[in-house]
Amino acid sequence: MAAVKARKKIHIETWGCQMNVADSERILQLMTDYTRAQSEHDAQLIVLNTCHIREKAKHKVISRLGRLRKLKRVRRDLKIAVVGCVAQAEGKRLQREVPDIDYVLGPAQIEQLPQLVKEQQQGTALGFATKKIATDTEAGPTLTGQFEISRFINIMQGCNNYCTFCVVPFTRGPERSQPRERILAQAQQLVHSGVREITLLGQNVNSYGQDLYPKGNPFVDLLRDVCAIDGLQRLRYTTSNPHDFTPALSALFAQQPKLGRYVHLPVQSGSDRVLQLMKRKVNVARILAIAAALRAHAADFAISTDVIVGFPGETDEDFEQTLALLAELRCSFVFSFKYSPRNNTPARRFRAQIPEAVKKQRLARLQQLQHNITTALNLAEIGQQRQVLVHYRSRKAGHIYYGRTVHFRPVRLVSEHDIVGQMHAVQITDANATALCGKLL
Ligand code: SF4
Repeated sequence: MAAVKARKKIHIETWGCQMNVADSERILQLMTDYTRAQSEHDAQLIVLNTCHIREKAKHKVISRLGRLRKLKRVRRDLKIAVVGCVAQAEGKRLQREVPDIDYVLGPAQIEQLPQLVKEQQQGTALGFATKKIATDTEAGPTLTGQFEISRFINIMQGCNNYCTFCVVPFTRGPERSQPRERILAQAQQLVHSGVREITLLGQNVNSYGQDLYPKGNPFVDLLRDVCAIDGLQRLRYTTSNPHDFTPALSALFAQQPKLGRYVHLPVQSGSDRVLQLMKRKVNVARILAIAAALRAHAADFAISTDVIVGFPGETDEDFEQTLALLAELRCSFVFSFKYSPRNNTPARRFRAQIPEAVKKQRLARLQQLQHNITTALNLAEIGQQRQVLVHYRSRKAGHIYYGRTVHFRPVRLVSEHDIVGQMHAVQITDANATALCGKLL
């Protein structure tokens, strides 16, 4: 009887955004000769899928590589791949500093990983992929998701906007959309396999399709088509840019209940002067007009956002305007960060860099304000009835379940029966700054 050859094992560590989570899932799909390892210790291939948005993330990768080098010294069969945005931006430096890395691939090149591994096994390649971005990638939409019933589809890569603080156009390249038919086929396949919520991903998701379908509003058309899939309960998308947030997109929330009553809309600053320095192409009036249009459809429409504090040149007055904008928008939550200079970006060269202590102080004030707003909004949910899509069961306590309301607020539920994947009417009974508690009705 022929001996069954043991499959090799792959271990993937993912930093950064949902796009990277989706890419990691894609790598698992591509590496058909490999099964998932329990940890780095039983893997023959370790993949670090990296993020270049924040300075600390890059340092984290470099220090992780230092630890993996020690492992590689005692494990001759171990291969290490660095993929994602740090690989794209710092590939040459990484090769110089950490010669033990076997493969370096930018985000648009992950499809090449199986071939590189094969070629290296056959001894026909040195193993380093090109450091240029492949703009003509043939990659299909990638699928992922932390929970079985909720999955992501990458519908586009890259960004054409060149905000002065952002590395994405340098690391992910220009916008490239996936054809509508392929996305729809993937979405149908997912729903058929039991998925109930889909999140469409792109760095600048609401400019989807402008490269492929220059006429009309391709993103709105795509959302309509995905909403029409029978069995899908919720459709989300991220990250949308206020610049490309059209009236048709706002109006769609009123027409398509599956879109829920929530959107993530990064404002970055509440000062027109700073927005201009950032080259965001929108002003505060435009941001408020979008929020007003969304809340004209549903007064309790939930908006979350991103804010950068301490952008070069941000004065006390600019910062006060950001606080004023947040007080007016009353976001359900805010991802807030201190500005940190990134390679290749114009803002890195701006003279008026803000001292670290000032950034820290501003961030603390902003986060305190937002904590109060989020807590107040969550407490106001007590007594409301909400439709909750149940995402998963607690691993520790089998009768505890977690889901999300139509406003994307997390809810903790108790049930004696398996309710994962079900949409339930829930009475909200308690709340704190991070989540709600509810009981099934
Ligand atoms: S729109 Fe978003 S992804 Fe594009 S450059 Fe600006 S911040 Fe970066």
